[in-house]
Amino acid sequence: MGRTPRCNRNESPVPARSIYLDWNATAPVEPAAVEAMVEAAHLWANPSSIHAAGRKARGLLESAREAVARHLGCAPTAVVFTGGGTEALGLALRGATASAHLISAIEHDAVRLQARDSRLIPVDAEGVIDLGALERLLADAPAGALVAVMHANNETGVIQPVDDILRLARAAAARVLVDCVQTAGKLPLPAADFVAVSAHKLGGPPGIGALIVRCADDFAGVQKGGGQERGYRAGTENLPAIAGFAAALDARADRGWIERAGQLRDRLEARLGGAEIFGAGAARLPTTSCIRMPGVTASTQLISFDLAGYQVSSGAACSSGKVAASHVLGAMGVAPEAASEAIRVSLGWTTTEAEVDGFADAWNALAMRKARAA
Ligand code: PLP
Repeated sequence: MGRTPRCNRNESPVPARSIYLDWNATAPVEPAAVEAMVEAAHLWANPSSIHAAGRKARGLLESAREAVARHLGCAPTAVVFTGGGTEALGLALRGATASAHLISAIEHDAVRLQARDSRLIPVDAEGVIDLGALERLLADAPAGALVAVMHANNETGVIQPVDDILRLARAAAARVLVDCVQTAGKLPLPAADFVAVSAHKLGGPPGIGALIVRCADDFAGVQKGGGQERGYRAGTENLPAIAGFAAALDARADRGWIERAGQLRDRLEARLGGAEIFGAGAARLPTTSCIRMPGVTASTQLISFDLAGYQVSSGAACSSGKVAASHVLGAMGVAPEAASEAIRVSLGWTTTEAEVDGFADAWNALAMRKARAA
């Protein structure tokens, strides 16, 4: 039997001379997070063991929990570590005692496919949740409903009026789950009943996340077993990943880069001739732009940009390698053909002006070539 292939630790997955503009899909792991993971891997004892080695591992686990709680603005006891954002959302949707699920029409599939018998809250043409419609849905829902909304949408970056949503839900005795996978480590998070976060979007490793639980009375958890994570999510804790998660948040505690990313995003959008920007009329996460090139499909654009050295994505889920129709743009009333011409460009803490200008030039060159060929 051969040896399982290993990678060269000095080699980036991004090809030489390529520019990574797909940070909403995942962010590069912070060197400090890698270091923390390696250190924690050497502390391999089970944090539930009573002996000295176990107590040492427990100490590291609890200090990582405190760091995560401090950065995300909650009590350490509210943090339930999970195997990522999808699991955190499922834990809330299946582990909370809820009479009904009301979910926005632009939720990630992790919510759409894990919610049960859900009623959809519509959004307006900018992708912002219709508060009037939510109020009517809450009035019709049985007491004890769970409302699931996003803090910022992964495709368009549109930020939702979460404070208003919390106010409406509280008046109707409903609980609120907010998907903060795209905003954790970037924006202050809302003090919702449940908040889902994921480490790999903020410089931590994939496969680790957390659900912040602020209403333990209405929550039973899902995965039962050894009683870890206060009995809400049993299973021996992934200490290296948890340590990497906390270290990534520490490393990115200075959020000055977000404002710079916003300026770069605005600069990029201003340089594109004939582009349509979805959600541009709403408050948006400064790192994200959903851009339509009229007359050119997203798959053609993705291939062309890849060849030109730019790693971007279609906003829609494309885990099968195919570009699927975007339910987010559909919910905003964008016609299917126009939606099929949208790509997502997302920036991060290492993105530079030269990278953004280079991409704008590549975008304009492709648009011009296609217009001439038409
Ligand atoms: N929610 C949003 C808004 C996302 O963008 C993603 C991932 O892209 C998820 C949930 C799922 O998170 P994870 O990949 O950690 O399971």
